[in-house]
Amino acid sequence: MPSYFSGSVCSVCGETIPRDAARSHDCRDGGVPLARYDLEQARRALARDAIAAGPPSMWRYAPLLPVDRPADAVTLGEGWTPLIDVADLAGRDVLVKDEGRNPSGSFKDRGASVALTRYRELAVRTVILNSSGNAAGAWSLYAARAGLTCVAVIPTDAQPSSVAQCQLAGARVYVLERWHDGGRIVAEAAGRHGWLSVATLKEPLRVEGKKTMGYEIAEQLGWRLPDAIFYPTGGGTGAVAIWKAFEELIALGWVTGKLPRLYVTQYEGCAPIVKAFADGKERCEPWGHIDILPGGLKSPKPAGDRAVLALIRQTGGAALAVSTDETLAAAAELAGRSGVFACPEGATTVAGFRKALAAGLIGPRERVVLVNTGSGLKSVPSFRLSAFPVIHGADDIAAR
Ligand SMILES: *Cc1c(COP(=O)(O)O)cnc(C)c1O
Repeated sequence: MPSYFSGSVCSVCGETIPRDAARSHDCRDGGVPLARYDLEQARRALARDAIAAGPPSMWRYAPLLPVDRPADAVTLGEGWTPLIDVADLAGRDVLVKDEGRNPSGSFKDRGASVALTRYRELAVRTVILNSSGNAAGAWSLYAARAGLTCVAVIPTDAQPSSVAQCQLAGARVYVLERWHDGGRIVAEAAGRHGWLSVATLKEPLRVEGKKTMGYEIAEQLGWRLPDAIFYPTGGGTGAVAIWKAFEELIALGWVTGKLPRLYVTQYEGCAPIVKAFADGKERCEPWGHIDILPGGLKSPKPAGDRAVLALIRQTGGAALAVSTDETLAAAAELAGRSGVFACPEGATTVAGFRKALAAGLIGPRERVVLVNTGSGLKSVPSFRLSAFPVIHGADDIAAR
């Protein structure tokens, strides 16, 4: 089956990136470059049941991905993650999309897989990105598989799991103390050396990988959309991608009905989207002092701020800030109640869901999906653990 990909367009300024060009776009007005497809044609030629007969991976959606030869995909078995039912979370049944199952331990693998597949088709040799850790780990591993060079700029507090992934995969890594400068430095270095910047939302194809989360949620619900989705939001790629997928599915006629409400969750110690939403702003102010657990929510000036804020308002959702303590308690609650070992970023959705329920934002019979964006294994040093008793014999083991 051919790909219906037709090229990319900036959501605000309208600048185009041709189908066969590998290019980044830094929109002055906060737009994001998005891939477009000939959905009219696809609607006539594709059937959702044929998709369901495809491989049990995110590559089942290949005709709706920007790739000419999916048989040559840079893949490690990413995607097609389970939608797990969790009973009685704050008194309600919810579904958790468990992205912790991806090869490097986070949903970042989806973007790296699709984008590197296409960029290798276009003969790109070196990519560069700034990343709080998980994207750096994912891109390092997928670049190694693809035979490309990955240059990653990471913060001083990146999780050891991500640092190890970068190093063992042979990426070129630089550690940046002033994290607010990351975007500017990467853009400058890319320009200077002729590398492709794959920084968050600066090129269109990471979104294409991540949108498969949206396709999967719909397909796993029997081609229905949930009422609300809680998503831990950093730069905004995931949220933009999931709703792009829903809009494409509606255009294809594969699902009907209203777009799910987007509930963004962020830490209180770096909540630029929550603040801009509360203040009625279209863009975020750069967040000053960052005080959060290390990981994927370290985005003081989200590249997708305009798009995410518009989505929250368009869908009737909200943006919720949660504390570190609430997050760590939520991670324990989720593991203890359902067996899902979530990363702290993912656990912010559990804490945020609690707040949304308390605020009366969620109806009694509504179908709610929480996205756990990564595995707890990526963030072990963040959990506050107590010591277990050391024993010397069976006498030391209590009956109960
Ligand atoms: C990157 C990341 C996020 C934030 O995702 P965006 O798509 O950049 O908003 C959330 N959780 C984890 C685990 C991440 O790695």
